[in-house]
Amino acid sequence: MRIDELIEKKQTISFEVFPPKPEADADLEGIRRTLRDLRGANPDFVSVTYGAGGNNRPRAIDIADMVISLGMVPLSHLTAIGYAKEEVAGVVAALTDTGVENILALRGDKPTDAGRGADCWKDFRKASELAGFVSQCGDFCIGGAAYPEGHQESSSPEADIEFMKEKLKKGVSFFITQLFFDNPSFTRFADRCRAAGVKAPIIAGIMPVLKARQIRRIVEISGCNVPEALGSLLDRYIDDDRSMREAGIEYAAEQISYLWSRGVSGIHIYTMNKSEEVLEILRRCNLRRGDDAI
Ligand code: FAD
Repeated sequence: MRIDELIEKKQTISFEVFPPKPEADADLEGIRRTLRDLRGANPDFVSVTYGAGGNNRPRAIDIADMVISLGMVPLSHLTAIGYAKEEVAGVVAALTDTGVENILALRGDKPTDAGRGADCWKDFRKASELAGFVSQCGDFCIGGAAYPEGHQESSSPEADIEFMKEKLKKGVSFFITQLFFDNPSFTRFADRCRAAGVKAPIIAGIMPVLKARQIRRIVEISGCNVPEALGSLLDRYIDDDRSMREAGIEYAAEQISYLWSRGVSGIHIYTMNKSEEVLEILRRCNLRRGDDAI
C-alpha cells in the first residue's frame, strides 16, 4: 500500500522503529515483539530507520520484511551520505524484492569524527538528489524530512521551504517532520509552507519524553525548542524516571490531541522501540484503533 494513497483518504497514525544492535537483539525477537504490540494500534504505516553509512542495512531490510509479514505497511528510510548510485540501486532493488513501496529519502547526518567530514560524500549531496534517483529506480511513493524549527545547517526558514519544493520536484509526495515539543512552531511552519505553495501533506513527528536526561541530549543535538511547561517537567524529574514517564506520556497525548483536532495530515510517533508507552499515549488521545482498542 502506498502512503500517498492512504494520506489522501484520512489522517494517518504511524510509528518509527529502529533496527536494534545485534548485541542487544541478536535474533530480532525483541523488535518482533515490539512490532506485534504496536500492531495493536492498527497503524497506517511503520517506518524503519537506516543508519547513515548503511551499517545496519541488512537489519533494516529484515525489519521492513517483518513489518510486511505482520500485516503492516513499511516505510523504509534511506540515506544519501556516503553512497554511490550503484549501491543505492542495490538497496532499492532489495527493498523492492521485499515488497517495500514507500521510501523516506534522507541525506543523513554528516559524520562527526575528525577527518571524515570531507570524504563522506559520494554521488549525492542532498536528500532531493537521492529522491530523484530513487524515483528513477522504480515506481515508489517517496517521502522527505521537514524541519518546523529549522535544520541545524539551514541558512533561513525560507531556504528550508525552497528545499522542500525541490524535494517535491524530485518525486517526494509527503513530509515527516523532525520531532518538536512546541505545537505553535509546527502550526506556524505548516502555515508558512502552505503560503509558499507547498501543498503536500506534512506529518507531525512526535517523540514521547520518557527520560529527562535522554531528552536533554536530544534537544542539544536537534536544537528544538522546549516550551516552559515541558522544561519545568524535565527539571523536576531529572532523576525520577518513573514520574517523567507518566508526565511524558501525558505531554505527548496532549500534543497529539491538539494537532489531531486541528486536522494535521498525520502523526508519526518516534517510538524508540517502546510499545507500552506508545499504546498508552494513543489510548489517552482516543486514537487507539486496533482490535484491542479500549
Ligand atoms: P537535506 O534535505 O538534504 O537537507 C540538509 C541541509 O541542506 C539542510 O540544512 C537544508 O536546508 C540544506 N539543503 C537542502 N537542499 C539544498 C540545496 N539544494 N542547496 C543548499 N542547501 C540545501 N538520519 C539517518 O541517518 N537515518 C535515518 O533513518 C533518519 N531518519 C530521519 C527521519 C526524519 C523524519 C527526519 C526529520 C530526520 C531523519 N534523519 C535520519 C536525520 C537526517 O538525515 C538529518 O536531519 C540530516 O542532517 C538532513 O537530512 P535531510 O534529508 O533533511 O537533508
